[in-house]
Amino acid sequence: MTHSLPAQPVAVVGAGIGGLTAALCLARAGYRVELIERTERLAEVGAGLQLSPNALRVLAGLGLLPELEAKAAEPATVRIRSARNGRDLARVPLGPVARERYGLPYLVLHRADLQKVLLDAVSNTPAITLTLGASLGEVTDTGTGIEAGITTASGARRISACALIGADGVRSEVRQRVMKGPEARFSGRTAYRATLPASAVPDVLMTETGLWLGPKAHLVHYPVRSGREFNLVALVEENWDADGWSEPADRDALLSRFADWPAEIRAVMDIPDLWLRWALCAVDAGTPWAKGRIALLGDAAHAMLPFAAQGAAMAIEDAAVLGRLMQGAKDVPAALAAYQRQRQPRAAHVQEAASANATIYHMSWPACLARDAVLKASSPERLLKRMDWIYGWRDSSTA
Ligand SMILES: Cc1cc2nc3c(=O)[nH]c(=O)nc-3n(C[C@H](O)[C@H](O)[C@H](O)COP(=O)(O)OP(=O)(O)OC[C@H]3O[C@@H](n4cnc5c(N)ncnc54)[C@H](O)[C@@H]3O)c2cc1C
Repeated sequence: MTHSLPAQPVAVVGAGIGGLTAALCLARAGYRVELIERTERLAEVGAGLQLSPNALRVLAGLGLLPELEAKAAEPATVRIRSARNGRDLARVPLGPVARERYGLPYLVLHRADLQKVLLDAVSNTPAITLTLGASLGEVTDTGTGIEAGITTASGARRISACALIGADGVRSEVRQRVMKGPEARFSGRTAYRATLPASAVPDVLMTETGLWLGPKAHLVHYPVRSGREFNLVALVEENWDADGWSEPADRDALLSRFADWPAEIRAVMDIPDLWLRWALCAVDAGTPWAKGRIALLGDAAHAMLPFAAQGAAMAIEDAAVLGRLMQGAKDVPAALAAYQRQRQPRAAHVQEAASANATIYHMSWPACLARDAVLKASSPERLLKRMDWIYGWRDSSTA
């Protein structure tokens, strides 16, 4: 069967996880895509990512699961421990149990590996043109199309498109400058990230996702790079007193913050020389995502605390729904309005769940005693079942 591509491409601003996935989904839906990225080189600094079955359902639909599995690790469990005494509070089964329950794995991997798999797929899709080192100029919604100016080192050009998707992250220029939307707000929480060689940590830690709960802080770790490296993230409540967005952290100040945590985990935290610090910001998922032929996707629309490990997953889900609704769309603004209607309640719900975890994970004594008692009394099956509404999601296009 032959069918002609729509005359005008879709412009996607930002080639992060959301923008790359959106470009692939839109190309599948029959569009040419102009993918515009500000940085000269797509490189993710050392950090890991958990990819739950809801996200992997979309990526599997794009044919990317085998490459992702080859680069990822698949923890058998999330082991939740108390930072007061190191004791186990609960285990959420993953591995074969998650595969059986959701039909897809729960993977953990390095962000650079996910980005490479997506970028390779984009490079192999002739309908997608990726322009790096590009800054977005004036954007006009003419009512019948989008006119946007793009500047790169080799000069300026104009793009005519049928829609413009802002997948440009938490500090989205499309949201703020083009759509006159809100600024991101600092959450009062900071993430410290480090990666270390697997050989430096006890073998048992390489088989699980670890979650340690302490007062005003928690710690997450898991293997990445097919089990060759170990990813460590410490999340703490504090004020961000620098202008920077991410920067090398004061290692000694961080370690002193965890001085009364169990020796077992302090020994691991002591290994990396370099920790990077991230300000955690949020964008209220309830603010408008779509206006005429312009729409937001991923963190640009609904940046959330990483406390449910779902920010990238929501961006990936957004991309699938956008692709489905744009396929054959005669009325692009109506398709984008439908995209907002279908995605906003779910993103808001997941954002709330992440914020609720922020309170629960960081409880101080004595409130933490009640939390710990509930966790200890919960069966592993029950704890996984509670995640069904997130992990069991399927869009009709990926079902
Ligand atoms: C500590 C931490 C841990 C996390 N863990 C998880 C996890 O385990 N699982 C999970 O699902 N999520 C997790 N997240 C969330 C996840 O990282 C984000 O939700 C996700 O990366 C958002 O993807 P995005 O494509 O929307 O935005 P981004 O990844 O921020 O990409 C935006 C892209 O747009 C580009 N850009 C910006 N402005 C412009 C412009 N004006 N013009 C052109 N390009 C532009 C940027 O250079 C970038 O390439 C975590 C986040 C943090 C901070």
